[in-house]
Amino acid sequence: MTLSIYDTLTRTVRPINTTNGRANIYCCGPTVYRDAHVGNLRTFVLSDLIRRTIELAGGSVNLVQNITDVGHMSEDVVGQDKMLSQAQAEKKDPFEIARMYEEHFHEDLGLLNVRPADKYPRASQSIELMIEMITDLIKKGFAYVGSDQSVYFDAQRFEGYGQISGNRLNDLKPGHRSEYTDEGGKRFHADWALWKNAGVRSQMIWDSPWGAGFPGWHIECSAMSMHFLNKHVDVHIGGIDLRFPHHENERAQSDATLGFETVDLWVHGEHLLFEGRKMSKSSGNVVLISDLISRGLDPLAARLCFLENRFRSQMDLTWTSLASAHSTLGKWRKKMLQWGDSQEIFEDDEFLNAMENDLDTPRALQRIRTIEKNTEISDAQKRATFLYADKVLALDLSRAPEVREISKEQQSLLDARVIARSQKRWSDSDNLRNELERTGLEISDSADGQRWSWR
Ligand code: AMP
Ligand code: ZN
Repeated sequence: MTLSIYDTLTRTVRPINTTNGRANIYCCGPTVYRDAHVGNLRTFVLSDLIRRTIELAGGSVNLVQNITDVGHMSEDVVGQDKMLSQAQAEKKDPFEIARMYEEHFHEDLGLLNVRPADKYPRASQSIELMIEMITDLIKKGFAYVGSDQSVYFDAQRFEGYGQISGNRLNDLKPGHRSEYTDEGGKRFHADWALWKNAGVRSQMIWDSPWGAGFPGWHIECSAMSMHFLNKHVDVHIGGIDLRFPHHENERAQSDATLGFETVDLWVHGEHLLFEGRKMSKSSGNVVLISDLISRGLDPLAARLCFLENRFRSQMDLTWTSLASAHSTLGKWRKKMLQWGDSQEIFEDDEFLNAMENDLDTPRALQRIRTIEKNTEISDAQKRATFLYADKVLALDLSRAPEVREISKEQQSLLDARVIARSQKRWSDSDNLRNELERTGLEISDSADGQRWSWR
């Protein structure tokens, strides 16, 4: 068998095809004007699961992920470039901002055991590729220079427009997304900019046959995916919000340039909520990997939480589920030690089948829990099966359980609780205990005072 996965375009679960024995995968990367939050990271873990499942079955993968460091407009400030507005806020050069957050992005991926892509092309270093593609699109009649000297894609010329997202061209209203509002020179409301005239902008601009300017966000993924994956993508991955307009536009650009369907399978990961709410700066509930670490939680607890859900369902992450995943990891690592130290691997078909069936990670986890509890399976075989599963789960199950220090935040909560108890503020003390438990600690009170241990 091979990995079959839900394709947004055909709305069916289809096997992943390979090109010369290798699956060519493109995953839309981060816009590096801020740290990736755990929601973004869920999407990047999705591409890692696809890669690892293909490899578990003996296949090979070539994964390309772009770094967006130019041309992505902000939803918060209409017409403002995300990179430039952050650079202004931090009083830094926009490229300095980009390199800093790009480095953080790689660190976060490492903490979640997401294996590095084979290539991370940067948009700012692929401008020539984009100019070539835009020139070709104009030549082929799919793009035009607008009255404002920006270049636009003529949406009506591309027959299949809207098939990924189900949006029909005539139903799209002008100005419904900030991406469109500063594009005054286009002929039709659903057209979008491939190249934007610099206007008053003086940073992050390049020369082009249409004057100084900068590329649109969508063209970068078409140009880089077609160039670095040799004109054909077996699997294209991104979060559900990218289905429209980003992927719809990307497909139109790539297919129009080459004259054939360039992406075989479109995979979209559903969004992650945090404590029941959409994660956004304005709601103040953006959670980063560094927030988990400062609460004394293993970042891989987030990976385990993602695995407990199907990638196509929206999921709600909470501090309670993270703390419980954290203790599950500790429990499994302890058991792995008790089960021996052999490095032998036992291939389990049921586990692989669950993964290959549209990444059914809850069933794959259920399978290893069944093995863990089965008294008829030897310890050595349990360990060997866990080692096999961990090639995909990547939860560091064979890592020695840590004797961990508590964080500064946990220490100050413990101190506050000692004071609350000495002042007989029992309800404060209970609230502090709940908060400490959410961070993975267990609190008990005795005549000698309070004690804590990791759960
Ligand atoms: P960005 O850095 O905003 O361009 O987003 C990077 C990736 O994260 C894209 O594939 C988005 O679709 C995805 N993404 C954004 N928000 C979430 C979320 N709350 N849950 C899951 N994926 C998300
Ligand atoms: Zn993209």
